[in-house]
Amino acid sequence: MTIFSKIVKGEIPSYKVAEDDRFYAFLDINPVAKGHTLVIPKREVDYLFDEEDDEIAAHMVFAKRVAHAIKAAIPCTKVGVCVMGLDVPHAHIHLLPLVNEGDMDFKKPHLKFSDEEMKAIAASIAEKF
Ligand code: AMP
Repeated sequence: MTIFSKIVKGEIPSYKVAEDDRFYAFLDINPVAKGHTLVIPKREVDYLFDEEDDEIAAHMVFAKRVAHAIKAAIPCTKVGVCVMGLDVPHAHIHLLPLVNEGDMDFKKPHLKFSDEEMKAIAASIAEKF
């Protein structure tokens, strides 16, 4: 089972942002930007482009709703979208609040938030979902 499946099952804690019967959104634990969110299918599938056509379409529509919630909750110009999947073999879409191009740079020092701050960020996005 992947680490993200364990998150979906509640075996590993996460800062949940939103979910429905097929998809789950939660804060990235090592954020590049405040509000950096991952959107995953509950079904275990390695990579976004391994998903069935109807699943990837629904995944993107769910991510769109999450992105609108991020935009409403976190001051930003746009919400950037990125797919890598180099570390975790469970499909995930990164959503990142953006002001500058550099806000998508995964090589820059990542941000640190306290547990309370992460809870507050997740709640602020969840409220707008
Ligand atoms: P990648 O597979 O290259 O897209 O990167 C995996 C992403 O998942 C990284 O940004 C990690 O910070 C994030 N990540 C890994 N484990 C967790 C976790 N337990 N909770 C939240 N995010 C995680």
